[in-house]
Amino acid sequence: MHATDLIERKRNGEEIPAAALREFVAAYVRDEVPDYQAAALLMAVWFRGLSPAETFALTQAMVASGETVELSAQLGLRVVDKHSTGGVGDKTTLALGPVVAACGAPFGKMSGRGLGHTGGTLDKLESIPGFRVELSTEEFVRQVRDVGLAVVGQTANLVPADRKLYALRGVTATVDENSLIAASIMSKKIAGGATALVLDVKVGEGAFMRTVEDARQLAEAMRGLGVEAGIDVVCLITDMDQPLGRAVGNALEVREAYETLADGGPPDFRELVIVSATQLLALSDLELDEESARERVTNALADGSALEAYERWIRAQGGDPDPALLPRAEVVRELPAQVAGFVRELRAREVAAVATALGAGRERKEDPVDHAVGVVCLAKRGDRVERGESLAEIHARDETAADVAEAALLAAYEIGDEPEPRPLVLDVIR
Ligand code: URA
Repeated sequence: MHATDLIERKRNGEEIPAAALREFVAAYVRDEVPDYQAAALLMAVWFRGLSPAETFALTQAMVASGETVELSAQLGLRVVDKHSTGGVGDKTTLALGPVVAACGAPFGKMSGRGLGHTGGTLDKLESIPGFRVELSTEEFVRQVRDVGLAVVGQTANLVPADRKLYALRGVTATVDENSLIAASIMSKKIAGGATALVLDVKVGEGAFMRTVEDARQLAEAMRGLGVEAGIDVVCLITDMDQPLGRAVGNALEVREAYETLADGGPPDFRELVIVSATQLLALSDLELDEESARERVTNALADGSALEAYERWIRAQGGDPDPALLPRAEVVRELPAQVAGFVRELRAREVAAVATALGAGRERKEDPVDHAVGVVCLAKRGDRVERGESLAEIHARDETAADVAEAALLAAYEIGDEPEPRPLVLDVIR
């Protein structure tokens, strides 16, 4: 089937045969299908969706575009993994991996770059001087075995189809479609070879899923793909109306993850790390019940072993874990509150737009990111602020960029009466 026939079929709302999808994905990876045809198909999928059979076929085709790592089989152990559907300030992997490894469960993960308005773990890791996100499959397996923890990017060998499609979706407004998200995430998880997985499905203003119902559907679709592949999956549905933690921007987020591993960090971020790690330990060979798993996780944060695991991991991938070496922006400007009151809303998508405009994210797929810039939200939903008190810090390349960010960031805050508290974890699906 020609690429144009496939695009036309989907545009007209018809089903695409599995073999044709496989061929299309393989040809795209070989550069025989140009980006403009792939982008047209993605847009047709965005409008028409994929059936469960098509989603399964796309996931399989993406896995088959590269090698698969028999990680758990090669180690003779259950290896755990985690993935988020994408949020603002979501640096969970940077702290979760070391915590889980410190508790004795091997953690191996394939991550992505920034997508749409959301940040990506690979971009965050690359703000660490010397850090290498591209490991060979052998290096990946060896590092999980020897260090207990590795995080890699999609490569020419590992899910190359996701590497290309992911970058294209990020710049063609085709990210927020459930079957594309499910295939993208689960192809990485299946190829990565872990046997147990926590999926953090974000919902809210700063997420790709705007309603809990939509998030549940995505969670079920991904769980189904995982179960087919023999992976145990637990899905957390979590709030993404406001940024997670305080920092939004690559090096700023690495610093915040480091502080959390040193037993500090913002309460919401710390809680998500603890909840996710608890679920992963319960799924691992340690077979802990939730209460003992949570106790082990909080001990690893308190006794320094999680921070040590972080330092071992970063060194193993060529980086220097010293947070003092992370890049810093030229200009750091405080944003004073114009009125006194409670923070009623801190709109995550608007904060993300400010961070992207400062240079922390990409407008086009070739764009470099500026690792130093971003925003630190000092006041979050429910916090009381006085007039003139700092709501946030803007980390900018120069004064002009800070000027532009100031008004936009102020508009992301709504100050008024005390809001109803909203839980961070909205549901757990097993
Ligand atoms: N994370 C991914 O890896 N893929 C998506 O499509 C969304 C979030």
